[in-house]
Amino acid sequence: MAAKEVLDLVSDTKKQLEHLRVLGVEGIRGTTAVAPVRVRPAVITPRPQPVIQEPAGESVSVNSLFGDLSPSAAKLTPSTETFEQIHSELVDCIRCPLYRERTHIVHTEGNRKARLMFVGEAPGADEDIQARPFVGRAGQLLTKIIEAIGLKREEVLIGNVNRCRPPGNRAPTAEEASMCKPYLLREIAVVQPEVIVVLGNTAMKNLLDTKEGITKLRGRFQDYKGIKVMPTFHPAYLLRDPSKKRETWEDLKKVRDYLDSHRSDQC
Ligand code: URA
Repeated sequence: MAAKEVLDLVSDTKKQLEHLRVLGVEGIRGTTAVAPVRVRPAVITPRPQPVIQEPAGESVSVNSLFGDLSPSAAKLTPSTETFEQIHSELVDCIRCPLYRERTHIVHTEGNRKARLMFVGEAPGADEDIQARPFVGRAGQLLTKIIEAIGLKREEVLIGNVNRCRPPGNRAPTAEEASMCKPYLLREIAVVQPEVIVVLGNTAMKNLLDTKEGITKLRGRFQDYKGIKVMPTFHPAYLLRDPSKKRETWEDLKKVRDYLDSHRSDQC
């Protein structure tokens, strides 16, 4: 084995042991079997989310007895956590293999009292370097979109399904997304935005848990636990196909109109 591989192996093992220690594991029993030398990235299931609760007994159908008693849709349980508490659980995160090639973990940023949130897929190269979401070319277009509906970037909240850059900017796998998404959902429960704009297929499918594509659902308000969700095209897609900007503008106007007609004291 090359020296670099040995160093990587030692470093991975140290991170895994530290993670297990944080999870409360105090010791590991030895084994006589020789472990295989090839080590795959640790995939550790995140702890259950404390703040998002589904109503009990959702699957029980009582309609035949009592008429139409469809179970009410799950509502968001507001959380009093802080972003700092949530982010502290992600320091040196190795829950999914994306940690291997990241430079920085890219957390959700912006106004923690925002009425409007944007959710993208995962950081790209610029975001990975700067540790901030949507700061590359797609991010600059997103900033213009935000300004076009009369808001400043600092007034909204911006995050991603995954916080580490997938190699070559590929979409995160379902497993990678499932490791990271709980932290986004906890942030949503803290901020409770009135509207979430999901940018592109990955964000939409992960937040809405749907198999439909963005072309079918874009422009129509959906629901996430009582929060309005507007699916629209990802700005990176708009850079590749500017003809889609017109539809995106139509979608964002609906968001602006909704926020204008539901004004509150929040910014
Ligand atoms: N694309 C995304 O989905 N998120 C970013 O933060 C940057 C580009």
